[in-house]
Amino acid sequence: MSADIGVTGLAVMGANLARNLARNGYTVALHNRSVARTDSLLNSYGHEGNFVRTESLAELVQSLERPRRVLIMVKAGAPVDAVIDELLPLLEEGDIIIDAGNSFYEETRRREAALREKGLHFVGVGVSGGEEGALNGPSIMPGGSRESYQALGPMLEKIAAEYHGEPCCAWVGTDGAGHYVKMVHNGIEYADMQVIGEAYDLMRSLAGLEPAQQAGVFREWNTTDLASYLIEITSAVLEQEDELTGRPLVDVIVDSAGQKGTGRWTAISGLEVGSPVTTIAESVFARSISSQRELRAETSRVFSAGINGVVSAEELYSEQDAQQDFVEDVRKALYASKLVSYAQGFDMLTAAGSEFGWELDLRTIASLWRAGCIIRADLLDTIMKAYEVPEERPKNLLLAPAFTEALNECLPAWRRVVAAAATYGVPAPVFSSSLAYYDSLRRDRLPASLTQGLRDYFGAHTYERVDKPGTFHTRWSEDRSEMEM
Ligand code: NDP
Repeated sequence: MSADIGVTGLAVMGANLARNLARNGYTVALHNRSVARTDSLLNSYGHEGNFVRTESLAELVQSLERPRRVLIMVKAGAPVDAVIDELLPLLEEGDIIIDAGNSFYEETRRREAALREKGLHFVGVGVSGGEEGALNGPSIMPGGSRESYQALGPMLEKIAAEYHGEPCCAWVGTDGAGHYVKMVHNGIEYADMQVIGEAYDLMRSLAGLEPAQQAGVFREWNTTDLASYLIEITSAVLEQEDELTGRPLVDVIVDSAGQKGTGRWTAISGLEVGSPVTTIAESVFARSISSQRELRAETSRVFSAGINGVVSAEELYSEQDAQQDFVEDVRKALYASKLVSYAQGFDMLTAAGSEFGWELDLRTIASLWRAGCIIRADLLDTIMKAYEVPEERPKNLLLAPAFTEALNECLPAWRRVVAAAATYGVPAPVFSSSLAYYDSLRRDRLPASLTQGLRDYFGAHTYERVDKPGTFHTRWSEDRSEMEM
């Protein structure tokens, strides 16, 4: 029996994608460096569909119909190159190698260019949704050539998550575009989680709302504009009691957030393509600060006098319904910060599209994230609407009427919350930086003119004038007269 697709790398993600493909009627050839994993998969789930057991990549390739489709799901980095090197002499022109792991987009660009020269298609595919998504329907963001999508797309669309009957899978752009879009998805995911954490901290530190009470708050919020998977699971985590101590689980979990690198890549790429993804960068740095536990322990002793501790909501609002008002303000601050984060993420995609020559369709990208992935949220529908009419696409999402209106509505609350955080010493880096981004964007004059003046003073870096074209320099160390360069 010849197989429709081969999967090599059968740890949790590869095994689940292979099962998903088989459950959808495809014949899947299986391979793993150590055969034990292949056998374990077949023993437990062999009955789920048509699988072909192979022990080597040569055997895997031989079992495939043409053009051959080989999906690599091994550890990102050098193992991907090792598998490609082994596959190369076994494949023929027109065959397709698919890397569905979390590879860095620059590596995907490099691999795609090298394989294209040899007449092979290399498709970097962003897959989001974790283990469960891989098995039951992930959000899929394929890159690579358009031609390869013809041979591969229908298969990926069949195993993808569905949103009202539409698959959350579409070709996003050439070479590394798929992995880039997945990377930005992960960056936004970092920011989404950070704003949730800031809201939780503010409500607990400033209004004394315990985790179990907050579970109810987040459940309520999940019926508002904030409705999303991450808000939903926040309730579940906050209401969980620790079996051992009976305390809220969130109080016994070490407050040091892990990271695997995709958030960092997004922040670095934002710097490289000149797109200010401040919310994502702040979220990555917030995780870094959380990891500095010893330093925090020491500084909390040194600077403890500066911390105001828990204050009552009445102190903040001095009204009867103070706590309720504060909670509503925090909800609005969270929503506004989230809007900024998505605006920055999509702005970054636009900048990357120009930089790398990808025709990224932002509406399509928003549509792919509506189901199967971690950042699935009602907000994505609003984003799709903003990009609906090509001629009316906003330069920045904040200029889309729905976003502008929502920000105007949230603004007073957002400012009150950021002011309270600063006044009472609760760190809210993304709430604050997203507000600063908003305030910077809406200013038609920034103090960058002074920066330019300083740069010209110490480094003769020159400046432009608002009233006439050209490049100018002031002779700072001479008679301070201006010269045109
Ligand atoms: P791992 O990243 O843990 O990788 C283990 C697999 O890689 C095993 O099959 C292993 O083979 C194989 N492997 C490692 N080194 C080599 C090598 N030099 N040559 C051949 N095979 C090698 O597996 P996961 O399933 O967790 O993740 C796979 C990919 O998916 C990664 O890129 C990961 O980042 C990504 N991922 C994506 C997620 C998502 O939500 N999209 C979630 C989790 C992961 P062996 O059994 O022989 O050791």
